[in-house]
Amino acid sequence: MAEKLVIKNIGMILTGKIEAPIADGDCMIAEDGKITAWGQESNLDTDGATTVVDAHGTTLAPGLIDSHIHPVVGDYTPRQQQLHWIDSTLHGGVTTLISAGEVHMPGRPKDVVGLKAMAIAAQRWYENFRPSGVKVHAGAPVIEHGMEEQDFKDLADAGVKLLGEVGLGTVKDGKTANQMVDWARKYGIQSTIHTGGPSIPGSGLIDADMVLETGTDVVGHINGGHSALPDDQIVCLCENCTAALEIVHNGNERAALLTLNTARELDKLDQIILGTDGPAGSGVQPLGIMRMVAMLSSLGNVPAETAFCFANGNTARRRELDVGLIEAGYSADFVLMDQAQHAPGKNLLESVQLGNLPGVGMTIIDGKITSHRSRNTPPANKLPEVV
Ligand SMILES: [Zn+2]
Repeated sequence: MAEKLVIKNIGMILTGKIEAPIADGDCMIAEDGKITAWGQESNLDTDGATTVVDAHGTTLAPGLIDSHIHPVVGDYTPRQQQLHWIDSTLHGGVTTLISAGEVHMPGRPKDVVGLKAMAIAAQRWYENFRPSGVKVHAGAPVIEHGMEEQDFKDLADAGVKLLGEVGLGTVKDGKTANQMVDWARKYGIQSTIHTGGPSIPGSGLIDADMVLETGTDVVGHINGGHSALPDDQIVCLCENCTAALEIVHNGNERAALLTLNTARELDKLDQIILGTDGPAGSGVQPLGIMRMVAMLSSLGNVPAETAFCFANGNTARRRELDVGLIEAGYSADFVLMDQAQHAPGKNLLESVQLGNLPGVGMTIIDGKITSHRSRNTPPANKLPEVV
């Protein structure tokens, strides 16, 4: 029998669509893990549900996406010797993670055959095993000198869809990087770049000239990871790039606001996407994406419903994923949340715009419930329940 999920009594539906971030309706329906219909319950066919969730007036949004993580294997990161960091991130409302390179693997191979083998293996082990149900897009090789066009074809043929951050390997010049990024793109592999100063000993500076010359699909951590470029270079990137402008938790917050304000002046808010850059030297950030939404909304004067789009719909569109948007046929990946208890503001959106985190009450991936009340966010006023 087909699986049918019906979520009733939704207080508000956030769509992930920056052009229309709020949808009318109190009910969401998904069949076999895909969104099929939403709107007023009285107008929808709710018969034959295999799972019914009473949202009790909470807000439903597409599950959040972290555009910049460094996974290694399963739900373990050797960088901080930490288990279950992905499960903790799910409790922060994040249902999809995108690797910017598996750089924390001890003894990471840097020869061409070795880096290809590891990328293919990483792509496989996260495709075959989703920690706590979270979708991890991994297998993102860091480019090194000596790679040829055939290597990118081999990677693509084997299922690799991402490059790790350009600049973390031996390729530090724009000309070589641009050649490799072009080869990757020719075979359908997306690219990103380490923008800014070195993150940890062994990584290097990538300035605006190199970002522009390389021409990746994503300007990775435009606000630095950790050290941001000088302001004039960030403004230059905002002005000259049609690529995604990625702001990360693990970066410079003032530079994040400069990016946001510049992008708004240029009418480029649809290019803003969010990541954590965790696990990293600064640790694991289970609430990192929520914190970026609240920070950018409050200090950047962006309506909360728009800031949430930076964390789901914008990223989904830029990354060409079937998640992050309320759209028929898209994955039924949701976060249900409400205003945190005792947080100021008259509703969830206003409390976020005042800089407060929402409380997560449930996550759902492919139409299946993956977590209940978050153990990491502040407790919410209202909680959904399975009925
Ligand atoms: Zn980086």
